[in-house]
Amino acid sequence: MIFQTLRLAGDRGAAVRYASLLTLSTILRAGAMLSLVPLLSALFSATPADALPWIAVLAALVAAGWASDYAVTGAGFAIGFGLLNNLETQIVDRLQRIPLGWFTSERRTGAQRTLTSSGRELCQGITHLLTPTVNALALPALIGAGLLFVAWPLGLVALAAVPLLLGALWLSGRWLRAADSSYDAASGELAQRVIELAQSQPALRTAGRTGVEGTAIGRALTRQRKAALRLIGLGIPGQLVFGFATQAALLGLAATAVTLGVSGELNAAEVVAVIIVIVRFIEPFTTLADLSPALQNMRGTLARVHAILDAPALDPAQGDEEILPRRDAAALELRDVHFGYEPGHDTIAGVSLTVERGTTTAVVGPSGAGKSTLLALIARFHDVAAGAVHVRGHDVRHYDPAVLMGQLGIVFQDVYLFDASLYDNVRLGNPAATEDEIRAAATAAQLDEIIVRLPNGWETRVGERGTSLSGGERQRVSIARALLKNAPLLLLDEATAALDTNNERAIIGALESTGQDRATLIIAHRLSTIARADQIVFLEAGRVVESGTLPELLALNGRFAGYWRQREQAAGWTLVP
Ligand code: ATP
Repeated sequence: MIFQTLRLAGDRGAAVRYASLLTLSTILRAGAMLSLVPLLSALFSATPADALPWIAVLAALVAAGWASDYAVTGAGFAIGFGLLNNLETQIVDRLQRIPLGWFTSERRTGAQRTLTSSGRELCQGITHLLTPTVNALALPALIGAGLLFVAWPLGLVALAAVPLLLGALWLSGRWLRAADSSYDAASGELAQRVIELAQSQPALRTAGRTGVEGTAIGRALTRQRKAALRLIGLGIPGQLVFGFATQAALLGLAATAVTLGVSGELNAAEVVAVIIVIVRFIEPFTTLADLSPALQNMRGTLARVHAILDAPALDPAQGDEEILPRRDAAALELRDVHFGYEPGHDTIAGVSLTVERGTTTAVVGPSGAGKSTLLALIARFHDVAAGAVHVRGHDVRHYDPAVLMGQLGIVFQDVYLFDASLYDNVRLGNPAATEDEIRAAATAAQLDEIIVRLPNGWETRVGERGTSLSGGERQRVSIARALLKNAPLLLLDEATAALDTNNERAIIGALESTGQDRATLIIAHRLSTIARADQIVFLEAGRVVESGTLPELLALNGRFAGYWRQREQAAGWTLVP
């Protein structure tokens, strides 16, 4: 844990300086304690004046100890502040490179907590916890070693007591750790449920569900309460075991000192001095026990930080030169792609398809067939388990993520808008675009009528996650972004589902008119959208069961034709050749 924390700070030189000063400080403390033995022995001897040089030694050691403690504190602060600066950057950098599929709601809550509080917690850990912990770990061993020179049997007993006491501490910590991790998990789940409760209020109130009894949040509260009680309860046996070990060590050391006194190997003054040293020998273990809960927290914080920093990142495959898209290649090619959310279950089970430049492919299929998953794989929100996704001639895993994203215009069902102006939200599609280009994209995406209606026009803030806009309006902002980006491959997930027919027609027209060379892959439910596609791919249970043009698939009279007729009946729609 100590090394992990120092590594996170990323400043090797500062860590070495800190470790050296800390070692020096611990040696000086041990030396000061052990100097009590000759000092007291001289003081109670026939010539008490002999104690004077030892008082000078003690004073020098104490003064040097203070000075080194001061330097250790300074070095600890330097590392702590370095870590505070460094960690947030490392976490944000990693979060931007983690596949989107990693972000379950539990991990999102964890990441939020990690980003907002870990830097401070670890900085405080270094400045307030690390120094006393290392001191407390090293001091007894040094005192034990020093006692070997005073009276070797006593030194041996002290050195034997070190693993015994550390073992007792470890055992009580182990119980606490188990209880702590279930408490942590229960707290994380509760935090998630609270967010869910806030978000699902409309649905819950509509259903008349206002109490917590028998609900997910009620169960999460009960679990957290039980975990808290277990955490408190498990502290007690730990304390008992540690208390017993401390008493046993104290008794063993005191008995050895007295035996040495009785046998004449130590004089009375030396026995008194040694007993004082023995008491100081036990003290660091008590300090460790007191620090244990805080150290436990620090361990939890480190685990949360590493859960993010060690998460898989979307890095391009290592190579000498940057992979750039090929103009002559197909816009998209899936080669026997397999992928599953759960091990052993393929959501996408061997999909192959090609989308040529300048063409539109409609992906059609029943709910749960894997259509959205397929789009997520193309955008590399997840990595395929087997097979490959090629965008403009290269495997998506070989691209630098920024280059890959530059190739894709994405309009998904879930449109994320930032709490910024409408203008800024559209501009996100291409931050380098001119004002005229931004306005043109907005007009093509049928945003003008919204802009006129909003109180501050373009400058109106759209609210957190775009809540002040309707679903169809949010989708139009997303389409405007995609138009502005004008990427060679457009991925649309039922992008027009929330639009009325007039808007849809205008937007599809705009999408088709810009970028003649652009390829489009669209998850389509509307018959009009399917009918316009150059190629239709019918997906079922993660497999392409039929593909071809509309006339070809209707002539085949298979799964797609059945699906088409069903929807025609539902929509009162008939295709006239
Ligand atoms: P729809 O038309 O209803 O949107 P779809 O064809 O787009 O469906 P997907 O959303 O790709 O289907 O889902 C395919 C399967 O994968 C479904 O069984 C779904 O429950 C499952 N699935 C989707 N996302 C996840 C996820 N994040 N974790 C686990 N399973 C998932």
